Amino acid sequence: MSAARSAVRRSARNRVLEGARGKEQSGHIAQQPGGNNDKNSGGEPRAKRRVQVEYEKTGGNTDKKLKWEPSNWRQHLENIRQMRIARDAPVDQMGAGKCFDQSAAPEVKRYQVLLSLMLSSQTRDQVTSAAMCRLREHGLTVNKILETDDDTLGKLIYPVGFWKNKVKNIRQTTLILQEKYGGDIPDNVPELVKLPGVGPKMAHLVMDIAWNNVSGIGVDVHVHRISNRLRWVKKETKTPEETRMALEDWMPRDLWSEINWLLVGFGQQVCQPTSPQCTNCLNKDICPGAKKK
Ligand code: SF4
Repeated sequence: MSAARSAVRRSARNRVLEGARGKEQSGHIAQQPGGNNDKNSGGEPRAKRRVQVEYEKTGGNTDKKLKWEPSNWRQHLENIRQMRIARDAPVDQMGAGKCFDQSAAPEVKRYQVLLSLMLSSQTRDQVTSAAMCRLREHGLTVNKILETDDDTLGKLIYPVGFWKNKVKNIRQTTLILQEKYGGDIPDNVPELVKLPGVGPKMAHLVMDIAWNNVSGIGVDVHVHRISNRLRWVKKETKTPEETRMALEDWMPRDLWSEINWLLVGFGQQVCQPTSPQCTNCLNKDICPGAKKK
């Protein structure tokens, strides 16, 4: 190619480029569907380019960032871990994870975990633990409980809360375990909650403690109350079950097991129902529910 012909071609290309720039500046270049005029498109698929536009509109938020989570929750959690470091709350010594016979056969341990949780509702850990000691001395297996009459069972568990109802529930549940589960307990939440006297909170704790399988957060009155005080729920919740669903919506799954133990003990020692010790609490400056005096 001659030098003269090359010069002519360069000149023609420059005129085309200048014309295009002028149109860009005056807004005359029509946008093509799919954004083909994007200088950075580089022939990328349409779907990817649309995502980039939406991304810019939302100021760079990703799906993960858009998901709601409570303010300061990581700091709240770390502070509660610090306050619970001594592990000296009643739940640490006498909770459901401590009341069963460690040397018993696996299915007997699981039955004892279930029974201790059934006894624990509306009952202080000290009272539950004492009742479990009496039951274990008597013999706490499916067969032994089915041989025991209601009067004796009542005397063994008294004074746990609602002890008369619990005698009935323990008998019916134990009978179902023997007839339907070969003396073991169910290994899933839907079947556990069908047992008389077993609700969702209890079922999730049974799954965690007896089966070592975290199926959900065990939310009792302490977890329910503290989650609302710390605003760990997007809007105020009325029941522990509502709180469980609200927490499971944002809380990382690897915390689900720890959170029950942590908040129950914290609720027993510091963030108590009627007179929380806010002045001694490490969260006092970042807790929306803190009492100021
Ligand atoms: S500041 Fe008070 S209400 Fe808040 S977590 Fe601590 S004890 Fe509970």
